[in-house]
Amino acid sequence: MVVPVPEIDASACISCGACATVCDQECFARDADNRVVVADDSACWSCGHCARVCPRDAVSVPGMSEV
Ligand code: SF4
Ligand code: SF4
Repeated sequence: MVVPVPEIDASACISCGACATVCDQECFARDADNRVVVADDSACWSCGHCARVCPRDAVSVPGMSEV
């Protein structure tokens, strides 16, 4: 089974950190430029919280029917 994992649209993301805050699995981190990136999607359990809280619709979890 393929687990849907998050993707960030870097052109829309404002690095507010909301997705990282709600992710229980610590899939997000900040890079050297302090931008939020997907650092580790191996623990993602596809809850969709990150996509729901993003104010810019910049994070998506492809393959999920309801996010
Ligand atoms: S919630 Fe959206 S805008 Fe904020 S850091 Fe995450 S992807 Fe970027
Ligand atoms: S879908 Fe859930 S577990 Fe996966 S990155 Fe988003 S908040 Fe974290």
